[in-house]
Amino acid sequence: MRRKDDDVDNGRMKKAQDYWRTPRGKEVHGRANKKCYKSEKGQESRRKTDAKRKIYKRELYHKLRKTVLMHYGGNPPICSCCRESRIEFLAINHINGGGTAHRGKIGKGSLYPWLRKNNYPSGYNVLCHNCNMSIGFYGYCPHKKDAGNG
Ligand SMILES: [Zn+2]
Ligand SMILES: [Zn+2]
Repeated sequence: MRRKDDDVDNGRMKKAQDYWRTPRGKEVHGRANKKCYKSEKGQESRRKTDAKRKIYKRELYHKLRKTVLMHYGGNPPICSCCRESRIEFLAINHINGGGTAHRGKIGKGSLYPWLRKNNYPSGYNVLCHNCNMSIGFYGYCPHKKDAGNG
């Protein structure tokens, strides 16, 4: 019984190999691809696909950004310092600093997918770029300083 099965399998394998090894088919396929890449039409369609992919990627990124910001900054997310609520200004901040070192650990990719992948670890909050930059450069934010000094 086993032998019979083996024979059938071998037969199938042979047929499949013959099919893929047909030199004519291979050659035609390769040429067609090359032509497509070199022709103007091919480049045009490629450019269009790339543009579409770019937009799609951007939309996905914005969605993810919003999700992560909402997780750390509430719904709607706001800057934990000045309560800026326009999402374009907001970013994730590493509370204890060391964002750059951390970035090295995550690698080349963005912080947002990393945070989602790691189940939103603690130690981050939401700041707007103004507050974020100020804290990064000066170690404090003028908003807080004003409030502290009355
Ligand atoms: Zn702010
Ligand atoms: Zn601030």
